[in-house]
Amino acid sequence: MSTPNPMMDTHCHLDFPDFDPDRDAVLESCYEHGVLDIIVPAVSAATWQRTRELCQTHQKTPNRPRLHLAVGLHPMFIEQHQPQDLSELDQLVSQVQPVAIGEIGLDFYRSNTHSVIDPDKQLAFFDKQLMIAKHHDLPVIIHNRKAHDPCLSLLAETGLRGGIIHAFNGSIQQAQRYIDLGFLLGFGGMLTFTRSSKLRDLVRQLPLQSIVLETDAPDMTVAAHRGERNSPAYLHYVRDAVAEIKQVSADEVARVTTSNARRLFAFHTADTLSN
Ligand SMILES: [Zn+2]
Repeated sequence: MSTPNPMMDTHCHLDFPDFDPDRDAVLESCYEHGVLDIIVPAVSAATWQRTRELCQTHQKTPNRPRLHLAVGLHPMFIEQHQPQDLSELDQLVSQVQPVAIGEIGLDFYRSNTHSVIDPDKQLAFFDKQLMIAKHHDLPVIIHNRKAHDPCLSLLAETGLRGGIIHAFNGSIQQAQRYIDLGFLLGFGGMLTFTRSSKLRDLVRQLPLQSIVLETDAPDMTVAAHRGERNSPAYLHYVRDAVAEIKQVSADEVARVTTSNARRLFAFHTADTLSN
């Protein structure tokens, strides 16, 4: 064990079929590497129940991390979402008490081959889900690509109690605006690539108190496992990258980022690893 301070993977799609063949082995490895809590954000109405069951099964399994459910309608699947999904989401939140609403957000990325899919519908679904989070006093887990301005205005209007901007990759000014609204910024495997110099500069300038660790597994792997499926058990690579960039110990990064995340998700346990 390289550090006595446990870590939390604040963003991992452990419910994805990519983990069907070896999910328990992955969880065992997480535990061995000090990842004691994992937030699993469900992305569409079709996956809410499955993800909920997965998290329930892994609430109290010995020697495995605890899995915590977040539920939302992800902007990348905007074409699938139906208006009635929003009322179902509202009801589900009352029944199952997730730790957050997510993954929700805006994806305005475009390229030569890829155009923005239905931005008006994305904005409407995002806005309504922010209202649901507000109504239930829950934090939000936000996916944002190329849409920081509309995202920031909606967040400012809604006045939530906070959340995470997952895989943050904006400017220091945008980061500061999110921080002013009570948000934390999530960083993952990208940070482990030395070519991510802009992102690494950004992390250097941010206070550790505004940072949380995430893997986004099975996507976005770390440099040490490039080309492979990503795993929440690789979170220590992200922790170590933050430590190196900010010139602090890995243990300090684990301690502060875990406490940031626990405060946000209102976890009351404060256990440390026994050995
Ligand atoms: Zn995600």
